[in-house]
Amino acid sequence: MNKDTIRLILFLGCNLKCKYCCNEQTQFNSQFVEKYFEDIDFTKYSNICISGGEPFLYKNILYDVLDNIEVVAAHCNIYIYSNGLLIGDSDMHILERYNIRAFNIGLHSLNQISKIIAVEKHFNTRFMINEKLYEKALLKYPERLNTENTKPWILNQCNRPNEDWILLK
Ligand code: SF4
Repeated sequence: MNKDTIRLILFLGCNLKCKYCCNEQTQFNSQFVEKYFEDIDFTKYSNICISGGEPFLYKNILYDVLDNIEVVAAHCNIYIYSNGLLIGDSDMHILERYNIRAFNIGLHSLNQISKIIAVEKHFNTRFMINEKLYEKALLKYPERLNTENTKPWILNQCNRPNEDWILLK
């Protein structure tokens, strides 16, 4: 399969410790390829998914990478994968400088959305929530979550056949 998407795993550190985290499972993390940013050939890709860990845990690294993407991969769509909890209002102002196509916010508990600033007011945002919490979350937070912007995720469905998984050195 022609892979049009690169998943850039900035680092594995995260502010949460989900026991089902794909990064902790050998069947998935054995597919990571470690590379320096400057060794990645971005001409092969149309999309860049920036993830971790939690990308906002070390914001200096995230912003460095975004600066470098502007230089060498301006043709790519940028998607940011985050649990949202460490994103502040000041980050929104900084991020609006970049050509970010969308945010993907992973929700791991029913109330997590109440602790996340309104990223969706600034960027296209898709919320992903455990399928078991999906209906309850939509009922509890109708002002933030709806069937258009929120999709259920299924435990251990981590494979993304169209992606190369690169862990930054
Ligand atoms: S928030 Fe995401 S990256 Fe962090 S531990 Fe949970 S599943 Fe893993």
